[in-house]
Amino acid sequence: MSKSQQSPCPECGYEIAVAADTVKGEILQCGDCGMELEVINIEPLEVAPAPEEEEDWGE
Ligand SMILES: [Zn+2]
Repeated sequence: MSKSQQSPCPECGYEIAVAADTVKGEILQCGDCGMELEVINIEPLEVAPAPEEEEDWGE
């Protein structure tokens, strides 16, 4: 039931392992190139480069 997923880094293609309880919007870091990646979708798992300029921690 607790299976992790993987998604390739859009920058370098490294397969990033994502915990099963990861939520949409979570920020991950690529273990290879170090790029910050935002989880934009869970099923199927998709990651995209995290926005650097917008900081939306208001809520
Ligand atoms: Zn990478």
